[in-house]
Amino acid sequence: METTAWMQLHSVLNAQQDRRPFDRATLRRIGAFARPHRRRIAVFVLLGTVTALLAVATPVLAGRVVDAIVSRGEERTVVGLALLIALIALLEAGLGILGRRLSATLGEGLILDLRTAVFDHVQRMPVAFFTRTRTGALVSRLNNDVIGAQRAFSNTLSGVVGNIVTLVLTLAVMLTLSWQVTLLALVLLPVFVVPARRMGGRMARMQREAATLNAAMGTRMTERFSAPGATLVKLFGRPEQESVEFAARAARVRDIGVRTATAQSVFLTSLTLVSALALALVYGLGGRLALHGALEPGAVVALALLLTRLYAPLTALAGARVEVMSALVSFERVFEVLDLEPLIEEKPDARDVPDGPVAVEFDDVRFAYPSADRVSLASLEEVASLDTRGGEEVLHGISFRAEPGQTIALVGSSGAGKSTVAQLLPRLYDVDSGAVRIGGVDVRDLTARSLRATVGMVTQDGHLFHDTVRANLVMARPDDGGGAADVEADLWDALRRARLEDLVRALPDGLDTVVGERGYRLSGGERQRMTIARLLLARQRVVVLDEATAHLDNTSEAAVQEALTEALADRTAVVIAHRLSTVRSADRILVVEAGRIVEQGTHEELLTAGGRYAELYRAQFEQSQPGQPGQPGAPEVAVGV
Ligand code: ADP
Repeated sequence: METTAWMQLHSVLNAQQDRRPFDRATLRRIGAFARPHRRRIAVFVLLGTVTALLAVATPVLAGRVVDAIVSRGEERTVVGLALLIALIALLEAGLGILGRRLSATLGEGLILDLRTAVFDHVQRMPVAFFTRTRTGALVSRLNNDVIGAQRAFSNTLSGVVGNIVTLVLTLAVMLTLSWQVTLLALVLLPVFVVPARRMGGRMARMQREAATLNAAMGTRMTERFSAPGATLVKLFGRPEQESVEFAARAARVRDIGVRTATAQSVFLTSLTLVSALALALVYGLGGRLALHGALEPGAVVALALLLTRLYAPLTALAGARVEVMSALVSFERVFEVLDLEPLIEEKPDARDVPDGPVAVEFDDVRFAYPSADRVSLASLEEVASLDTRGGEEVLHGISFRAEPGQTIALVGSSGAGKSTVAQLLPRLYDVDSGAVRIGGVDVRDLTARSLRATVGMVTQDGHLFHDTVRANLVMARPDDGGGAADVEADLWDALRRARLEDLVRALPDGLDTVVGERGYRLSGGERQRMTIARLLLARQRVVVLDEATAHLDNTSEAAVQEALTEALADRTAVVIAHRLSTVRSADRILVVEAGRIVEQGTHEELLTAGGRYAELYRAQFEQSQPGQPGQPGAPEVAVGV
């Protein structure tokens, strides 16, 4: 009893806060989420109604018992009524458990629906979205807001619907028993509710203050009581001052605790007092009516018992509106994410990449990165409003073609647009005009699955999930059946070809060693070879490489180079080349400057032409020619591949 009453006080306390009007569109969408569960909801409401009916039946039956006693009726009647009361109690207990189970099934089911909807949707968002969004904010949507939304739903169902049914039924029965007594009993209600609401704002503020103070004390303690923190205080700190400050905060928390406890007891006492006073009124007025023969004695008892069941739903309903409303905000925050358009979507009639070796073609491609308001949400970036400025065009009519099995190298200054070209091929972004084609088909007409199976990409950062080597690799393996032994054999084969076999065999748990952020630390070169192993395992026909040599030493550079040679064999490749060897052995080199291809040809042709490439070559690559040992990043072993 104490806790429910306290929770009721809580909702009354918070009643001041949120007074937003119901948004019809939001309600409709909640309805859409509820629709698949409508059978269960109907059963739940029915169950609630039956429970409320039973609850009203007991006082009425008790009244009958009194009437039977007063009129000196038969013993059988009294015993029969008592048995009926016992039966109702049993039924109430059973239905209570059933109802709780049903509401949990509904609530948890809704959490599941919302979570999977948000997860699926977020997964379909373009890369541009993830480059802007704060991961923490997004995860909170998936956890806190989804649970908040479920609370809104469950509270409305069990709190509001159940209580309204109880209230209406109880009032209806009371009114039929005696309308005068019922009205009089209700007169006292505002005496209780109005001051409780008044108290609300102040109490809520104090509780928030206490929460903030507790959090501050917690932070202070963890900070000061760590070994380095404690040392710092001993060496330079002022322990007395720290103690005084800490004590002041703790004292404030004590004061708030005392006040809250007092308020709690005032609330509980006044609730008891008001219903006791109302009870006295019922006995007084009802008794008088009974004496004058206007009311049966049993009716007076029934009224008194019903009255005790009237106040709880009334106070609960006083707060429910607010609770539901603030939880509706959670629904809105979830819908906000679901409303984001996933710019890149598979067409309904999308097709697969044609079989066999495929050519890659860029046909007069123009592209600007999408503006923030098209891909993101202000609340997820934690900014007040989003940038609506359209991105500047980055690629101004790029055209080239890589025949099946050819390697095309992109070179050019930083910021020229090479990575952008690379990202258009696996359709991480869509072009604004022109087309990117694989095997003669526009990537926008391909199924996402087929595109994934065809185009592989190795980026500079070589990201690994915090998981085992096995899990990091196996995700890339096409699911073409085969037993565990086949998978194992494929994994080792890919590792061997990526020059990682010895490393992984030497790891403490071999393939089951956890790598990634908090796992076994791999070096930059090892990480890059791991992503190459992933690529080899995926057996994609088109490969996009964003090479980087910046953080590689000579040994890993050579190993990466060998692994890359494996990765490029028999594949159509677009390579952002930083290595002399890749550039030299490419079938064609495109020189990209400021979003345009300014030169193209083979290494020899371009050198002879003496243009931008020749200039870049001298500036960047000449220094890494063999015979000049000691140059950083010199791929001596690999030159001439
Ligand atoms: P490169 O790979 O040749 O160094 P990029 O393709 O990365 O060049 O960049 C080309 C241009 O696009 C640059 O002006 C860069 O600022 C811009 N750019 C790159 N990524 C983004 C992005 N996610 N959003 C907006 N602009 C970008």
